Order: sequence, then C-alpha cells, then structure tokens
Amino acid sequence: MTDTPPTVTESALRGIACKCPRCGKGSIYAGFLTLRPRCEACGLDFAFMDSGDGPAVFIIMIAGAIVVAAALIVEVKYQPPLWLHAALWLPLTVATTLLPLRSMKSLLIALQYHHKAAEGRLIDREPK
Ligand SMILES: [Zn+2]
Repeated sequence: MTDTPPTVTESALRGIACKCPRCGKGSIYAGFLTLRPRCEACGLDFAFMDSGDGPAVFIIMIAGAIVVAAALIVEVKYQPPLWLHAALWLPLTVATTLLPLRSMKSLLIALQYHHKAAEGRLIDREPK
C-alpha cells in the first residue's frame, strides 16, 4: 500500500465497486446496505461514514427521470392499456432504484472520505 492519497477518480471507482475508500481492497458492506465497523484489509474505522439520504435522493432523481420519460414515450407512441403500463414500469422502477443503490451509497461515502467531508462546526472568533 502506498502513502500517496488516491485521486478523485480512484476514490470514485473504489466507491462504485463498494470497496474501502482508503485501500480499495476490503468491502464496506456487511449486508445489503449495512456497513462493516472497519475495513477487513487495512483496518480503517468506518464510524465516520454517514451518507444520510444522499444516495436515495440521487437514485430517486435518476430513476424517476428514466421511468417517467420511458412511460411518456410509450404512452404517446402506442397508447397501451394501463395493465401493460403497470407490467412495464413497476419492474423497471424496482430495477432502477434497488440495483444502483449500493454503489451510489458507497460512491458518496468514498467521496466523503476523499474530500474529508464532515459536519460543520462553529469556529472561535475573536470579538471585535
Ligand atoms: Zn481498507
């Protein structure tokens, strides 16, 4: 392992692959979206990881655009019955939300680690 910090591209690729943001070897997940307490390869403590609702928001925006655009195009061109809309768009909605969710959460965590993002803190200033 080198001491040089990874580039933002390397960090993003580690995130998409759901790997540790520091070493890129250990998995960050113990379950579907459950994080491990620390990296099994380099021992990085994962307590800092908090992506909040960020991954879900990105997924909702992207999946919503894809599904709504596809539904509108199919409706305008073919006017299918409602049962066919349900048969088409419900599975597509599930696929476009659940499949990328792990990678999106891991990507945001990797970028959080890369940019050393944390909660804002008040700084002490001298009174004027
Ligand atoms: Zn690691």
